[in-house]
Amino acid sequence: MDRKKEEFTKEREIFLEHIQNSGLRRTAQRDLIMEIFLRTEDHLTSEDLYWLVQKEDPSIGHTTVYRTLKLLTDAGLAREVRFGDNKTYYEHHYNHQHHDHMICTECGRVIEFFSEAIEQMQDKMADKLGFRPTHHSLRIWGICDVCQKTEPMLVTAPSGAQPKVRMRSVAGSQGN
Ligand SMILES: [Zn+2]
Ligand SMILES: [Zn+2]
Ligand SMILES: [Zn+2]
Repeated sequence: MDRKKEEFTKEREIFLEHIQNSGLRRTAQRDLIMEIFLRTEDHLTSEDLYWLVQKEDPSIGHTTVYRTLKLLTDAGLAREVRFGDNKTYYEHHYNHQHHDHMICTECGRVIEFFSEAIEQMQDKMADKLGFRPTHHSLRIWGICDVCQKTEPMLVTAPSGAQPKVRMRSVAGSQGN
């Protein structure tokens, strides 16, 4: 716990500085929201974070969580990401290497990846078109390895006709 707290020393400093520069006051609520956000290595909506915060301090409202997330984003500690479901997710930004995402359309799992080869290809393509890229977000939608394993079961029995046939034959063999 103490080690974790030390890990976020720089992040705390950055956040405090940003709060002061924004003419805001440091509050215990904002501190707690920041702590919980930094502790969670995941892609969170403000709703997700709100529920995590609720567990530790039920008096903190959704608006406070949302506003604090915005502050964290403006301070460069958080980054907004979208995965095509009309929700805004937040992930750690400070000290985190650039990465891209694969999104499972079955279970919503988000997989982070980084490929130097893909990065270079993108730069080359931009260069070829005389385009000066400032930032990018590569997202690949599909079905994750876990969902692919459960998929064949759904495919073999989709209509209900097959299980019915199988049940009849079982009943028939019992009768004989
Ligand atoms: Zn990339
Ligand atoms: Zn999945
Ligand atoms: Zn990510």
